[in-house]
Amino acid sequence: MTALLITVSSPNMVRIRRTRYIRFQQCTMPYLAAHFPPNWEIDHVDEECEQIDFSRRYDLVALTFHTPSAPHAYEIADRFRQMDCFILMGGPHVTLMPDEAAEHADAVFVGEAEETLPRFLAHFEQGSPSLHGRYVCEKPPLLNGLPMSHKELFHRRDHAAGILCATRGCPNHCEFCTLARLYGRSFRRRPIAEVAAEFASFHGKVVIFWDDNLSADMDYAKDLFRAIRPARKWWSSQAAIQAALDDEFLELAAASGCQHLFFGLESISQASLDSAGKAFNQTDMYYRLVRRVHAHGIGFQAGIVFGFDSDTPAIFNETSDFLEEAGVQNATLNILTPYPGTPLFNRLESEGRILTRDWSKYNSRADVVFQPKNMSPETLLEGFWAVNQRFYSLKSILTRSCHAPPRLLWELPLNLMYSLKWARYAYSKWQSK
Ligand code: SF4
Repeated sequence: MTALLITVSSPNMVRIRRTRYIRFQQCTMPYLAAHFPPNWEIDHVDEECEQIDFSRRYDLVALTFHTPSAPHAYEIADRFRQMDCFILMGGPHVTLMPDEAAEHADAVFVGEAEETLPRFLAHFEQGSPSLHGRYVCEKPPLLNGLPMSHKELFHRRDHAAGILCATRGCPNHCEFCTLARLYGRSFRRRPIAEVAAEFASFHGKVVIFWDDNLSADMDYAKDLFRAIRPARKWWSSQAAIQAALDDEFLELAAASGCQHLFFGLESISQASLDSAGKAFNQTDMYYRLVRRVHAHGIGFQAGIVFGFDSDTPAIFNETSDFLEEAGVQNATLNILTPYPGTPLFNRLESEGRILTRDWSKYNSRADVVFQPKNMSPETLLEGFWAVNQRFYSLKSILTRSCHAPPRLLWELPLNLMYSLKWARYAYSKWQSK
């Protein structure tokens, strides 16, 4: 039996993601590959870095994708279907929009697939007539005993940076977030010994935790840091800002090799945070939080979103000022995007503010897909570009470096590489106008 697993990324998303100097590979398919019986021959294409070879026929073609790559994924599926391959779809967009995906697939997976995939594969090998249809994860699976991902299926460039998950889900319920739809409302943890063993199994020095909120259970996180410390690797992850208030968390993180933490600040406007269901982020603590993280020798990456209902055009300059004055090394800047199935999408739709259902525009960087409250879509897009231009300018990089402690100066060349990437992207956008 042969299977092609595809981590789908549309050409537009590949272009957009290339504005990032460091891009980490999605780990879904290498993890799911471990659930195939050993008699299967498995290929994995990650479109971020590889092309699909349509000349080969597979028994099974499985696709996972996010919303902005959905139209592209459907084209791929339709093409393989003409070759009489069985088409399986899963992942974030399929879980959000299963009926739509089912039009292009023989079977769709809704939610996590650890329990449904083995059931499907058993049916497949038996040629069962009940094979087609929908496989729904009724109850989020426990994460005990999960097999390690198949490392040989990671793309070579990213192989140096190991990628793994320790937890799934988040106990919070922000209005714009898809997590509650993808993972249910539970927060689940893998056994620490299993995570530590997988962490140590990567050959490279750098490991990324793909978790959405590694600090959701602080005791678990601290025990995990103690367990991974002997591996003497460098790692990075996402955490909630409350973690930056806990000295023990930061000390253990730094001692176990943490180089960078991503914090979803989302906005420097408290009114915006309150309206988005993220009132637990308190903006008056932001400067102090950055200083505390820096004091432990850990780089601070800020997740920032523009376009909340309280945002006015002033938000762009105010955010840029904050990022520079606080000395934030890195920022993931996004345009607010109402993914289908989220409370945000439902609210904006009921208010008649969804401008398009062309999912390819739900990319958070190049298009605005809803009517903002206090500015036009064009102003939101222009303001977003202006923040990027300023953030990646030499002046801003130097200002931010000066405001960070000298021990984080190693971030300077990294920032310059990001700046180069952004300049290339901006130039290609300008050329295509
Ligand atoms: S805290 Fe972050 S991961 Fe959790 S629900 Fe909010 S946006 Fe999603």
